Amino acid sequence: MLQCTAVTPAPLDEVLVAIATLDGGLHDPPPDPALDHYLLCELGEHDSRTEHAALLRSSETPSRPALWFFWTGAGPDRVHRIGPVPWCPAVLRLLDTGSVLQCSFFDRHTASHTWDVTDPLGDLLAYGSVSDEEPKGRTQP
Ligand SMILES: [Zn+2]
Ligand SMILES: [Zn+2]
Repeated sequence: MLQCTAVTPAPLDEVLVAIATLDGGLHDPPPDPALDHYLLCELGEHDSRTEHAALLRSSETPSRPALWFFWTGAGPDRVHRIGPVPWCPAVLRLLDTGSVLQCSFFDRHTASHTWDVTDPLGDLLAYGSVSDEEPKGRTQP
């Protein structure tokens, strides 16, 4: 399954406030250089009724909910929300290496888990060495 190609400009003010309140908001988070001005949907291809989703920030405690940006529509018709959502509980065991991957999407996401979603751009970059590429996912602590 290919990755959804939806991109949307990030409302930076809202995103920064949401990040500041993640983890209880007891501390000032450092400015995040990884924070993009555009957000890319990370899900596998989905229908237009399903919200697009982009991960904004993982919690400092890996098991705690991460902050996600959800949206539908584009331009002036865009509807969005920001909120912490628990991780998808799905895991994939790699029999050859014995390692365990956790799906890096949110709980109750639609479409495929992380390891079944192909990033078209990533494939382009990895062209020629695709055969020994491992499935994507979070390695378990
Ligand atoms: Zn999408
Ligand atoms: Zn999943």
